Amino acid sequence: MFFLYPAFKELARTGYIMSDESSIEAIITKHVLLNALKYDGKAQVGSVLGSIMGDHKELRPKAREIKPKVVNEVNRVNAMGIDAIKTETLDLGIDVSLLNGKHEEKKGLPPLPGLDGVKVPTFRLAPFPSGPLHIGNARMVILNDEYAKLTNGKLILCFDDTIGTTKKKLDAGASGAKFILPEAYDMIREGLEWLGVEWDEEVYKSDRLEIYNDYCQKLIEQDNAYTCTCTPADFKKFKDGKQPCPHRQLRVSESLEGWRKMIDGEYGEGDAVIRLKTGMDLDDPALRDPVIMRISWAPHPRIGNVNKVWPMLEFSWAIDDHLLGITHIIRGKDLLKEDYIERFIWDIFKWKHSEIMHHGLLSLGFKLSKTRAREKVKAGEYSGWSDPRIWSMQSLEKRGIQPEAIRKTLVDMGISMTDVDFPYKILYAENQKIIDKESDRFFFVEDPVMMEILGIPKEEYIAKPLVNPLVPTKGYREIPIKIQDGSKEIFVSRGDFKTLKSDFRGKMIRLKDLINVILDSTRDERLFARYLSDDLESARNKKAKIIHWVDTDPKNHVKVSIMMADGALIQGFGEKNLLSCEEGQLVQFERFCFAKIQSVNESEIRAFFTH
Ligand SMILES: [Zn+2]
Repeated sequence: MFFLYPAFKELARTGYIMSDESSIEAIITKHVLLNALKYDGKAQVGSVLGSIMGDHKELRPKAREIKPKVVNEVNRVNAMGIDAIKTETLDLGIDVSLLNGKHEEKKGLPPLPGLDGVKVPTFRLAPFPSGPLHIGNARMVILNDEYAKLTNGKLILCFDDTIGTTKKKLDAGASGAKFILPEAYDMIREGLEWLGVEWDEEVYKSDRLEIYNDYCQKLIEQDNAYTCTCTPADFKKFKDGKQPCPHRQLRVSESLEGWRKMIDGEYGEGDAVIRLKTGMDLDDPALRDPVIMRISWAPHPRIGNVNKVWPMLEFSWAIDDHLLGITHIIRGKDLLKEDYIERFIWDIFKWKHSEIMHHGLLSLGFKLSKTRAREKVKAGEYSGWSDPRIWSMQSLEKRGIQPEAIRKTLVDMGISMTDVDFPYKILYAENQKIIDKESDRFFFVEDPVMMEILGIPKEEYIAKPLVNPLVPTKGYREIPIKIQDGSKEIFVSRGDFKTLKSDFRGKMIRLKDLINVILDSTRDERLFARYLSDDLESARNKKAKIIHWVDTDPKNHVKVSIMMADGALIQGFGEKNLLSCEEGQLVQFERFCFAKIQSVNESEIRAFFTH
């Protein structure tokens, strides 16, 4: 991260800018230096060109001529080193506030539109309680929370729990009821709290059913909706032919009578629905007289069997977004149908429209199915709702992912309409920035293979690796090794074994923080080596491969099992010092992964893979 010298701050404040602004060379130098400062000393040609053209529209026709000059300047500056770059920037008197201004804004969230006349910007989260929040839900959550915080607005947590049940076999064809997991309400709250989301109010849709009924009744009375008793197949024929079904022409009193029968239970599940009169000739078949109310007799986990008619989500939202005073709706761009229906209903009631913003869809690279997760949790195949394969907030916490890293990654993505793959690499890099200094290092060898070393002159060694190279004040840990009759057996990882076996025979290898050996031969699953020297210097001179190792003596190692993100269990041995770890501690298994310790005992250390 670029550090602002006091003098830089002074320059930024006085607004002193270079005198030779008009010269193209000076412009290029300025942008290259600023870009290099932003990217740890390595300016990027494309990014520099972009910022030049952004600031100097007049230069756009000259882009071709400018590019080679930018390339030269980038090469010059990138070879300077960060300190010299800072000095030159200072000497040239370049306004470094540019670094924190519009260039930064491109990353992150754009200003919120639609704030004119809005006293308290109000947002909503609308989770459906079928399971905990997972990584795929996090974007919608963070965007709403972040905007609420940025605008000093209000955030409402509104459980979208209409037409849900815990019944196992759902007659989805007739009732359309979705599965509600009663404990999901708490798990969702827990996930939100962990993410640092602050909501001001909590609402349950299942408490608001009378409201939807009232507004549905109004729509029927105004002849904007009707009771339809077509079978789904019959209605599809009318819909596909852009023709009204016979019920569209019913008198208001007849539709109201049908509506009463739905409420009173005289119509069973699937016998009737209420349709909104959007028009049967609309281009999009999904928008032709859509259902707004349907019948479900399935018991609801919060309110039981009291209600027989249930709103479709978009209908309930049309009403609630108005009644709850939601000024801004942020949703995935797959919900355009919902936009249309909401706006249609707002117009009928002459309500002010909420501002609707869309974001592109986030592809996780695998399918997250709550139904499948539920089955596997129930069957004991998954270790619970915090199993890493579920990617719930609970499981990310268990893995050692920090909520701040998730928030930063998602905020930096902005709110574009483009569909993108989830940036795991960025998330992991952000997370590492946060946990690197607190994660003490330990030797670990995965799937161990034995190496026998002969000709060791001493009887005892104590390897002293740094506890954490980023925090030298933490000092060293000690790994004592006993040598018997000049020979010693150690474990190396199978990965290293394979490389050594094929490419390193007869070459020097350094056992990290211990000794240098030469690899003589391999036989079966075993490496044979000879002692060469102790010092790191000669290993460096020879560019020796440095490998991690663990003592084969059971008194000197501990079994380690690491649960990976895909549920695979990686096993190996780690240094004995791991026994000093505590549950929940973040560690780095050197050259393997960061991990969060799950349990510690003499026979085994269990950990979750972080990244
Ligand atoms: Zn009909």
